[in-house]
Amino acid sequence: MARCQNPYTWRVRIDPHTHSSCSDGTDTPAQLVAAAARAGLDVVGLTDHDTTAGWAEAAAAVDRAGVALLRGTEISCAADGVTLHLLSYLHRPDDPGLLAAFERARDSRATRAHKMVERLSDDFPITWHDVLSQAEGSVTVGRPHIADALVAAGAFPDRSAAFAGPLSAQSPYYVHHWALDPVEACTLVRAAGGVPVAAHPRAGRRQRRLVPEETFAAMAEAGLAALEVYHRDHDAAERAAALALAQRLGLGASGSSDYHGAGKPNRLGENLMPETLLRQVLAEGALDLVVPPGWEGRRGERMEKASQPLEGGRV
Ligand SMILES: [Zn+2]
Repeated sequence: MARCQNPYTWRVRIDPHTHSSCSDGTDTPAQLVAAAARAGLDVVGLTDHDTTAGWAEAAAAVDRAGVALLRGTEISCAADGVTLHLLSYLHRPDDPGLLAAFERARDSRATRAHKMVERLSDDFPITWHDVLSQAEGSVTVGRPHIADALVAAGAFPDRSAAFAGPLSAQSPYYVHHWALDPVEACTLVRAAGGVPVAAHPRAGRRQRRLVPEETFAAMAEAGLAALEVYHRDHDAAERAAALALAQRLGLGASGSSDYHGAGKPNRLGENLMPETLLRQVLAEGALDLVVPPGWEGRRGERMEKASQPLEGGRV
């Protein structure tokens, strides 16, 4: 049996970072909530990129699935050309400051995707139309849809191969897009009643340069609550580095699957958020969890039955 890499104990299984077809996932929000229930989660966080478009459908699926919904958004940020994703939880979805930032990011992504497809179509058999048909139903047209179009055209075996090749930030086909400054994003999220958590902050396989510690310190000043430590894009050394960074800055440590549905290997519940951090998010966020009838009671029963702390974080 594989050794658990996560020191937390779990009674309530919380996977707080997933994507639906409202951004670059393949499950509809309702399918995602149903899949979360099948994966044995108690709480699933829906965090599509720069949008809250999936919240209503996911919330409507909660009663039937019997799983609680943590509403969130993954906000694209960049500092000095280095990308950072900021998860925001339980913010007011109609906050004008956040809405303006989401809209600008979506526009910029769409323009960027268009430019990349233009470059790629010189060497690969794809068109903008092919990419759009992969992005059907999505609010954001992004690199995953270009990857799907490249796979559909037979140029690459899967999304990961396309991302490692022409879609990588080092590739000549890559085009940069506008993104919010991460410190400013923390301020905007808090102003909207949200709780900010930095996604996979030490994932060296995603990009060569990483956001420096000073930026995280400034983000902590601006209200950052936690760093995502337990994530498949962090190897053991990066998890240790992220955890040490969180401890130095007095931040919490989260974990998630970053599930995208079919096409990526991430499995729901493969990494989890500690319950203490969820409690903090609930205490500080403007919104509540969306819970099915009787959920609190069933959760209490589950906690009582766990006579031994359950080891976990990775399954
Ligand atoms: Zn994500």
